Amino acid sequence: MNIYRIAVLPGDGIGPEVMKATRQVLDHVVGKSPPVRLDCIEYQAGAEVYRKTGEALPQAVLQACLDADAVLLSAIGLPDVRKPDGTEVQPEMMVGLRRALNVHSAVRPVKLFPGVSCPLKETRQGIDFVVVRENLEGLFASFGGGGLVGNEVATDTMVITRQGTSKVVEYAFRLAARRNGRAADGKRKVTCVDKANVFRSFAFFRKVFFEISEHHPEITAEAVYVDAMSLYMVQNPWDFDVLVTENQFGDILSDLGAGIVGGLGLAPSAEIGDRHALFQPSHGTAPDLAGKNLANPLAMILSAAMMLDWLGERNQDKTCIHLARQIENAVEKVLHEKKIHTPDLGGTATTSEVAEAVIGQIDKI
Ligand code: ATP
Repeated sequence: MNIYRIAVLPGDGIGPEVMKATRQVLDHVVGKSPPVRLDCIEYQAGAEVYRKTGEALPQAVLQACLDADAVLLSAIGLPDVRKPDGTEVQPEMMVGLRRALNVHSAVRPVKLFPGVSCPLKETRQGIDFVVVRENLEGLFASFGGGGLVGNEVATDTMVITRQGTSKVVEYAFRLAARRNGRAADGKRKVTCVDKANVFRSFAFFRKVFFEISEHHPEITAEAVYVDAMSLYMVQNPWDFDVLVTENQFGDILSDLGAGIVGGLGLAPSAEIGDRHALFQPSHGTAPDLAGKNLANPLAMILSAAMMLDWLGERNQDKTCIHLARQIENAVEKVLHEKKIHTPDLGGTATTSEVAEAVIGQIDKI
């Protein structure tokens, strides 16, 4: 039997609700497959913990994340919990956790499921691409630094390194090799998204990208400026397969991606490093919905499926990969049937009803 230790961080706001729904789905799917066991241990971290203790990520919790086989995290942060300088606790905690786990590539699938309404007029060719965001450097390398000159000038520095760029670009090509290509015609392609016509840092990012692409001749490599990419994501998203980009651009483009496929409630995310990985939905803690049992748990459930897929690939555990597909297929069926949709998707279902519907579909598959 393969046993995986999972550090579970339910977090703040809607975090505990969507985590509870996700644990129910995970327990169910894994319970049916004796060769795999998940030892999930819950830890408290985030804004509520900061409010009580003055620390958002206690050292013992960080150590538990480092010791685990994977980290499953919901959402962190509350607008009314602030540090003495007025900022929220979420950015510092997440940047600290990402740096400690050294998770260099953030993977954000952008997939339009049948049954979900799309704000774009034309979607016949389908939408199914992935934004791979460099997760440790770029503009975020300045986090905790930056400069302020008197009351007049503020600066943050963009940092692009060969090592950081190579890791995320290599990851993007490996991912493209595992996928079925772009929605339009199945062509495998990695698109570098940058601003290489203006900034030296992005020209270097693009140079390293094309150097690495030479090791992957079976996959088409191209580069697009980020402003043009924002247009193409709305006009012809089916022409893309895997996008790879700098940290801040990836942050923005993945939210745009979520917007064209049903919103944040359907946007999962995986943050992958050489040794560690962290899985969490792209959305925040949505305090307006907290405690109402109305949040959409599917972004979190799909993130847990990405976790099983990663554990399976890393440990050559086919059962784990199969369980990931089972969850994804069950989510797809629930969305397609349209009966059990939460309010963000135009329905009236509760968080727990969606979890039950996913479990029901797993039993049918
Ligand atoms: P953060 O800065 O922490 O990422 P944010 O300010 O971008 O957070 P979110 O908390 O992600 O904001 O949510 C923005 C809005 O999107 C929420 O107020 C809520 O209406 C909606 N939303 C986010 N996640 C969900 C979800 N899982 N289900 C339903 N609606 C959601």
